[in-house]
Amino acid sequence: MGSADATLRPGTTEVLIVDPEIPDPAAIARAAAIVRAGGLVAFPTETVYGLGANALDAAAVRRVFEAKGRPAEDPLIVHLAAAEGLDRVAGEVPGLARRLAEAFWPGPLTLVLPKRPAVPAEVTAGLPTVAVRVPAHPVALALIRAADVPVAAPSANRFGRASPTSAQHVLDDLEGRVDLVLDAGPTAVGVESTVLDLTRNPPTILRPGGVAREAIERVAGRVAVAELSLRDPAGAPSPGLLASHYAVTPELIVVECPTAVATASALARIAELARAERERGRRVGVILAEEDPVDLPPEVEARRIGSAEDLAAVARGLFAAMRELEALGVDVILARTFGAQGLGLAIRDRLRRAATRLLPG
Ligand code: AMP
Ligand code: MG
Repeated sequence: MGSADATLRPGTTEVLIVDPEIPDPAAIARAAAIVRAGGLVAFPTETVYGLGANALDAAAVRRVFEAKGRPAEDPLIVHLAAAEGLDRVAGEVPGLARRLAEAFWPGPLTLVLPKRPAVPAEVTAGLPTVAVRVPAHPVALALIRAADVPVAAPSANRFGRASPTSAQHVLDDLEGRVDLVLDAGPTAVGVESTVLDLTRNPPTILRPGGVAREAIERVAGRVAVAELSLRDPAGAPSPGLLASHYAVTPELIVVECPTAVATASALARIAELARAERERGRRVGVILAEEDPVDLPPEVEARRIGSAEDLAAVARGLFAAMRELEALGVDVILARTFGAQGLGLAIRDRLRRAATRLLPG
């Protein structure tokens, strides 16, 4: 466990199945001991599985980057067991941060604040700010509490792959590269947290996620949303937001649909693309809402991930559908966006990042 060469010895990942509501204290104690010893533990949060290390241990944090193959300039999120821990990592905590924490923690909102010197530069990619949140998952909270240190954790996937929403996804990417995986079943939200930069005026959403912009604005007033730069990674609004961040291996063609309920033209475009790709002899996967009326040619793998009336279900199923179609060996995946309201903004962001081609609906 927790040895310095954890990422260098293949085949040593332990898996412990835990109850998502009442995790076995022995499993949590084991995971916490690994974190305290400088090792790596993949654990469930309400958003996606995270790859955790002691945030105050620079060597442990470096191992996270190695295990993922993540570029060092992409900072990690620091996870706390409660808002009271904020002062341990943030140098300055404005009243708005406290109000947002009160409203949304535990939950999928990450706040960017000035950092304290105790947080190693490895965590923040050398930035003077730190990203922090309290996750809403009993297993994550029990682990952080038992480890009694802030836990730095990015998503527990290999760099460039869709974030993991199950323990199997973690093992598919990181088996032999992490010490332990706590398996508590699939995650509830399915897209990562919203990252809100409170060092900017107005506060700026750097990455849309599990908490909708509209909900944040009810507490914070107007916030800005940084535009995702798709063509120019160097101009990305937040470090690490490369266009390839969520890339899947097959080609991904994304049809932009202005509303959650599909427009006829978006669906017609998907049907037409599916036919054209089949005619070229390519294997095709499609990601759609349950009720999308679309006439697909035979032998197309369709994944209907949820209703357009229930964007939480769509968000929950998105990454798993991408991974499943990829594992089936399709050459191209066709998907549509679900507007920009509520969770639609995060869904569109993840699809845009992964897209090899973006088309108007
Ligand atoms: P992941 O947990 O893999 O989704 O990655 C965490 C993301 O949080 C990074 O890719 C950044 O976009 C964002 N982030 C973390 N720390 C900071 C920071 N100090 N400033 C701005 N964005 C950050
Ligand atoms: Mg990630």
